[in-house]
Amino acid sequence: MTWWKCSNCGYVFEAEKPPEKCPNCGEICTFYDVTCYTPECGCQGYDPKLVARRPNEESRF
Ligand SMILES: [Zn+2]
Repeated sequence: MTWWKCSNCGYVFEAEKPPEKCPNCGEICTFYDVTCYTPECGCQGYDPKLVARRPNEESRF
């Protein structure tokens, strides 16, 4: 399973594929993959650093 973050409201959820509409805000928006791929870091499936990142910082990453 993959963790996704809604670019509109910031809602984080687990799903196999990102839905067409956000389950929280109901908007059709972009979803960012925030899954943590480092099992030994001890986080709950998603990476807090990726969740905290804002969409407009994407280009600087
Ligand atoms: Zn949303």
